[in-house]
Amino acid sequence: MSATETSLDLGAFIAGHAEPLGDRVQEIRDPATQGVVGRATATDAAGVDRAVRAAQDAFVAWSTRGVAERGELVGRAAQAIRAAIDELAPLLTAEQGKPLREARIEISKAAETLEHYAGLAKQLRGASVYGLDAGVSGQVLRRPLGVVGAIVPWNFPTTLLANKLGPALVAGNTVVAKPADTTPLTTLRVAAIMHDAGLPAGVFNVVAGHGADAGEALVTHPAVRKLAFTGSTPTGRRIMSLAAADNKRLTLELGGSDPMIVLEDADLDRAASAASMGRFFNCGQACLAIKRLYVAEPVADELIDAVVQKAKRLTVGRGSERDVQLGPMHSERQRLALEDQLQRTLDRGGEVLTGGGRPASRELSDGWFHEPTIVFEPGHDSPMAIEEVFGPALPIWRVRNLNQAIERANASPFGLGSSVWTSDLDAAAEAAERLECGYTWINSATKVYDELPFGGVKASGFGKEHGSEAFDYYTDQKAVVVRTRRRE
Ligand code: NAD
Repeated sequence: MSATETSLDLGAFIAGHAEPLGDRVQEIRDPATQGVVGRATATDAAGVDRAVRAAQDAFVAWSTRGVAERGELVGRAAQAIRAAIDELAPLLTAEQGKPLREARIEISKAAETLEHYAGLAKQLRGASVYGLDAGVSGQVLRRPLGVVGAIVPWNFPTTLLANKLGPALVAGNTVVAKPADTTPLTTLRVAAIMHDAGLPAGVFNVVAGHGADAGEALVTHPAVRKLAFTGSTPTGRRIMSLAAADNKRLTLELGGSDPMIVLEDADLDRAASAASMGRFFNCGQACLAIKRLYVAEPVADELIDAVVQKAKRLTVGRGSERDVQLGPMHSERQRLALEDQLQRTLDRGGEVLTGGGRPASRELSDGWFHEPTIVFEPGHDSPMAIEEVFGPALPIWRVRNLNQAIERANASPFGLGSSVWTSDLDAAAEAAERLECGYTWINSATKVYDELPFGGVKASGFGKEHGSEAFDYYTDQKAVVVRTRRRE
């Protein structure tokens, strides 16, 4: 057992030590039972300042190490996370609510992303230009930015952190992360594990706490040079306005309302499975979940029936129990928001094909459970069509053709991902070109690859995570002009 293993309740992990830096202790509760699973001290502004200074102090030594050495240390830390999966996954399930199987996938994916960037370490380079003028050449150096503030939500606390940590650390930055106030435990434990695996003190620090306090203290700290934020669109806008004061660099990964378009020549079995998995994993609380389904009229009845049957067969229960497929929603606030959105939608039309409320089982009455729900043809201007649906509820509409599907899909304010299901390559290519978003899957959905850049457009934000492109968001490109020959 490491020295840091028992210190989660202290709430901050700074320069290799767990400490309580504030006087408010928050209870972390299991969304399935409301039982207390841990505690974390909410870090106050002075504590955030300590964390940023620690990251600043560590920056010079970290950024001047060889890049391959940084990659190796990040790779070792990733292996240590993998090795701790039996401890981390149950902790994630306990504080977040997701089924244990999904928690294990999340922890593995976080390690995989860190390993991916560790492997790219030796490819991090700029460019040089020979002969700008007679005897003059140019170089483009990629320099790290300094201290990066990484703010993540509760739905995927570890993968969303790893997406930022991987490129930020390998590029030579140091990081202060702020997890959501309801899911600090896994993040604090990950920081301790990475430190124990050899990541130097101060390179990666964590402050637990609330958005308005610890979050804003981090966003407005003058020594933080960049903010990598994942969360809701309103919070993203607030952070953008606060960051403007110091010209801080930003990556904003915000809300989504991903459409799935199924044409009449699609493989309907695969499409139905993808719709169910893509809507209901993590209890529907994923940025890139399938949130609107548009299906061509000739195959609509068949596809809708298949999706409804799959939704009815999902096993709802506590994430810690074997074979559970749909855990609780994360919090009372999330469930109330979904219930309100469903009611406002149904007030204006649409038909509930399955689900629609809380499960009847008394065993589930203490948790924030919600039935898997399918709504047939609510209005195209209803809340479920326009707003993000962040829970286990899927609206479905019939469409006449691809053109109508694309127009409806693009009518959303969001632009994160989309998927198109068809065996017609021309239709697929047209959809990929016309859909206004950052990621389009053809005959596939929701799986994000570390090899490709991911990020939204419109209200879904800007900037990229994943891909070698992510390095662009954690480095400055500095031009250097070198005169190599004396003038005659
Ligand atoms: P949220 O915006 O309420 O909170 C996200 C994080 O920001 C939390 O750590 C929170 O404490 C912090 N925060 C809140 N207010 C802040 C402030 N004023 N200053 C600084 N930090 C602040 O988001 P949420 O509702 O918890 O998360 C769900 C949202 O995240 C959904 O909209 C979802 O689509 C989005 N999301 C996007 C992606 C993506 O990659 N685009 C991925 C996952 C989730």
